[in-house]
Amino acid sequence: MVTASVIDRQSTLAAMRPVAVVFVAAVVLGTASAAAATERFVGTVSAVGPADLRFSYRSGCPVGPAQLRLVRVSYRGFDGRVHLGSLVVSSRVTRDVVSVFRRLYKARFPIRRMTPVSAYRGSDDASMAADNTSAFNCRRAVGSASGRWSQHAYGTAIDVNPVENPYILGNRVLPPAGRRYVDRTRLRGGMALEGGALVKAFASVGWKWGGRWTSPDYQHFSVSGR
Ligand SMILES: [Zn+2]
Repeated sequence: MVTASVIDRQSTLAAMRPVAVVFVAAVVLGTASAAAATERFVGTVSAVGPADLRFSYRSGCPVGPAQLRLVRVSYRGFDGRVHLGSLVVSSRVTRDVVSVFRRLYKARFPIRRMTPVSAYRGSDDASMAADNTSAFNCRRAVGSASGRWSQHAYGTAIDVNPVENPYILGNRVLPPAGRRYVDRTRLRGGMALEGGALVKAFASVGWKWGGRWTSPDYQHFSVSGR
């Protein structure tokens, strides 16, 4: 009886073990694939909707809705987590933009937030103050005496982390909260730096950096260099 009982228990264990192993493997693989799915970079391009342009576009702007696209990309927040952001850009540059943000994602470069400026009623000041990364906005160039269109009005310029990367125009710092980032030798996350991940990512697609201007606009990257 004792022998039979032992055999029974062994055969039960023998039968159980592979099941347990399979179960554990499934849990481990399941966790790994779920993590991989959430961590994988996403970059999509679609038509712009009315809500994306409500306050950033009006008739008379140099490009219209037909020439603009909504690009959605994964980015790493300052919280270390993965977020999905949106940018309105020219249809001519969607490939470049996805490529840039794929590089930044891989480099784990932190970005505060990424929402079309229409969410800030088209106000560049409000968008910058919120440390928002954005592209298209039908507006005149800041500090332009002639009132020429900004490259943002063509959807061919992107401002990244405006607080960490302010625009320094004489005594003005845009946004004002960027004043603590005027000293570019104090290195902190999210900054555009010569030889850094952000400047290199845009350089990889031939975009130029406003940080090299006489009045440096550290947040600004554009196709034309203006
Ligand atoms: Zn800009």
